[in-house]
Amino acid sequence: MSFITIKSTVEIENNATLVAVSKTRSNDQILAIYNQGQRIFGENRVQELIGKKDALPQDIIWHIIGSLQKNKVKFIAPFIEMIHSVDSFDLAKTIDKEAAKNHRKIKVLLQVKIANEYTKQGFDIEDLILSLKNEDWSSLKNIVICGVMGMGTLVANDVQTRSEFQNLNNHFNLLKLQYFSNNPEFKEISMGMSGDYEIALEEGSTMVRIGSALFQD
Ligand SMILES: *Cc1c(COP(=O)(O)O)cnc(C)c1O
Repeated sequence: MSFITIKSTVEIENNATLVAVSKTRSNDQILAIYNQGQRIFGENRVQELIGKKDALPQDIIWHIIGSLQKNKVKFIAPFIEMIHSVDSFDLAKTIDKEAAKNHRKIKVLLQVKIANEYTKQGFDIEDLILSLKNEDWSSLKNIVICGVMGMGTLVANDVQTRSEFQNLNNHFNLLKLQYFSNNPEFKEISMGMSGDYEIALEEGSTMVRIGSALFQD
């Protein structure tokens, strides 16, 4: 069992990956966390990310975690490591095309709706399954589909949050079995934020996205 400790308040047990969510934080705040050894940072706005990337150390590994418009993909395609928020085949196609132009592969997660808030981004699981059946995902050679991402209901009790994360874990297992059994890269379950990452880890999260608990001020 390994521990990543950034601040005493955030101690990630087991082998989960910590994505430090740095949206709205200053470069100095990000550098302070970077200097403690953190390398993976997540942003949800392309414009903000582009501005930060040039000013910060070049070995930072950037993830996009928020909803992404197709016309913004070209700005991040040269460097983005992972996009957590793929919620349509069209977006996946665009990422694939821009990755190809840059002669690289971009890792993506399929965002699945698990919260009962109807505004939340992501595929309904039934729609995702239809899309995987009917659309030619395997033709997208420049993306690597690494798993799923989900966000629990923001204002929820622990019982509800836990059951939403269990649902995402079940969706992951079903997708793995039916569509990605030959894809060893399909192994990530991105779930858990500052308020619920402990439950997420108990329910099988492999990646937690934590902002406010890391950057306290
Ligand atoms: C902001 C954000 C987070 C981090 O939220 P905190 O509560 O600050 O930890 C995680 N995931 C997504 C998609 C976000 O937009």
